[in-house]
Amino acid sequence: MMASAAQESAYQVDALIAQDINAYLERHQHKSLLRFITCGSVDDGKSTLIGRLLYDSKMIFEDQLAALESDSKKVGTQGQEIDFALLVDGLAAEREQGITIDVAYRFFATEKRKFIVADTPGHEQYTRNMVTGASTADLAVILVDARKGVLTQTRRHSYLAHLIGIRNLVLAVNKMDLIGYDQAVFDEIVADYRTFADSIGLGSFTALPISGFRGDNITAPSPNMPWYTGPSLVTHLETVEINAEADQAKPFRLPVQWVNRPNLDFRGFAGLVSSGTIKPGDPVRILPSGKTSTVARIVTLDGDLDEAVAGRSITLTLADEVDCSRGDVIAAAGAPPQVADQFEATLVWMAEDEMLPGRSYWLKLGTQTATATIQAPKYQVNVNTMEQLAAKTLDLNAIGVANLSTDKPLVFEPYAENRTLGGFILIDKLTNATVAAGMLHFSLRRSQNIHWQPTDVSRDTLAALKNQKPVVLWFTGLSGAGKSTIANIVEKKLVRMNRHTFLLDGDNVRHGLNKDLGFTDADRVENIRRVGEVAKLMTDAGLIVITAFISPFRAEREMVRQMMQPGEFIEVHIDTTLAEAERRDVKGLYAKARAGQLANFTGIDSPYEPPEDPEIRIDTSGMTPDEAAELIIKRIIP
Ligand code: ADP
Repeated sequence: MMASAAQESAYQVDALIAQDINAYLERHQHKSLLRFITCGSVDDGKSTLIGRLLYDSKMIFEDQLAALESDSKKVGTQGQEIDFALLVDGLAAEREQGITIDVAYRFFATEKRKFIVADTPGHEQYTRNMVTGASTADLAVILVDARKGVLTQTRRHSYLAHLIGIRNLVLAVNKMDLIGYDQAVFDEIVADYRTFADSIGLGSFTALPISGFRGDNITAPSPNMPWYTGPSLVTHLETVEINAEADQAKPFRLPVQWVNRPNLDFRGFAGLVSSGTIKPGDPVRILPSGKTSTVARIVTLDGDLDEAVAGRSITLTLADEVDCSRGDVIAAAGAPPQVADQFEATLVWMAEDEMLPGRSYWLKLGTQTATATIQAPKYQVNVNTMEQLAAKTLDLNAIGVANLSTDKPLVFEPYAENRTLGGFILIDKLTNATVAAGMLHFSLRRSQNIHWQPTDVSRDTLAALKNQKPVVLWFTGLSGAGKSTIANIVEKKLVRMNRHTFLLDGDNVRHGLNKDLGFTDADRVENIRRVGEVAKLMTDAGLIVITAFISPFRAEREMVRQMMQPGEFIEVHIDTTLAEAERRDVKGLYAKARAGQLANFTGIDSPYEPPEDPEIRIDTSGMTPDEAAELIIKRIIP
């Protein structure tokens, strides 16, 4: 094998490491960092290519080296020759063992740059992993086996890389040695890919004929392919524009991570500059409030700066005492980002549990957190064909487009313009698991046009007129538990006491307001969301609202609780065992469900999540319906 220029310089690097590790690290500190991902299916040669890059750059980090050393006595200490084949075997074995590991990150460096490469498994079910690995990447290397050409996986990976907003795509046509370095084959694959790239609006890409195994066009031009006159892979990786450089040209944005206030004389706003450049004296605007000020100082651990650019962590102090806290965004005064609470977005679903339209999730967008409700998807994308399919929900690894709304305004930019202010994750409120990654497209104009209409007669006036404090008695329990029976008695007793009430009953609501809904999990969530909204309006009218719905999921009951004024939501668990409810079988539904004539029946083939800490719990085995009603009324009317 020929010793390339890069290899020679690699030997110098070895010597330098041996001499003075600190000097070596110091030199790396000032190099720019390129993050990239490699995509390809199992046999396309990902491990070989990554091994080749590590091998030729000689910059293998200690842990990788240690793992390889334990495999073989042949491998010596850092700086000694490492067998290439052994390195590749080690990487491949590690990846196979690590099948449960989402993404493996490798580090290497050349004279010009540092690199982090994310190695993601290629199977379809790992869409989620690829999205994780790609979310911070500047570049993607799409590997294609020259003998196979553009495959379904090639299209899927390219689509995902494009979706995630990776600007630099490299089509690496690998194993050129196995097709006799034939230019015609290469050209045909590139033309094929061009057609596909145009069809998804992918724009430009860089095509490279390589052999990871033989080292052709990896660090230097290959003598085997004189017809190829472009850069080698490493040269391309060393010179391509990274995100941080591109982001510097955009307007200034600093998502505030925390407020630094060590004493009364100093108040600084700390965070990572996500785009643009800032200098003392620059006018800034704080979002979402819209207040303006000017930058006084740019403070860092290394002292004050005259200028800070994208990618730098700083603390800003402002000339005026303006309100600004975690989650706010400090932006160039003349070019601020948008503020909205309704959006269209692409979602990549990452949880085993399907998405439930109508359910509320935590949404994290940079340093901002809000409660978000997702509507049913407009469509789902088949990642193999890029076809848009109708969808009611999104399953694990599915990608779809949906509208969502948040409980407070978010400072944002379309993902295509700013990954930090346009990319978000959704978190399950109960399990705290990340269930989706999302990319904001735009705000819905509706959110700018629909404002809450202030009314002259307040809810307090309406309640005072009725001489009562509005509440919602939210009954929950299995079918046949006794919700309707007890709720009816409660209402009759309240009316006798001259209270103004309204009873919302599950079966009745399903005849009208919710007649379009069935009993799937998604429909049950929407059913409860609507009932919650109606109950809320009724409390605004000053009523005592009683609801009798199975409402099987904790998350929705919690959501309704959050909708109400503090203290106005009273959860009443009508606690009857499944055995007892089934024995009563008032409507004959349990018998039907057991006979398989009724699907999605709570307690049989659909879950019921009992309240953990309800305001009132009624054990129907221990009291009559009348006693239960008395007990409930005593709790709300002292
Ligand atoms: P749900 O509204 O929860 O589906 P229903 O109120 O329609 O339940 O049915 C409950 C049935 O159980 C009624 O026939 C009621 O008479 C009977 N039942 C027996 N004991 C009790 C009790 N202690 N509390 C409530 N209901 C009871």
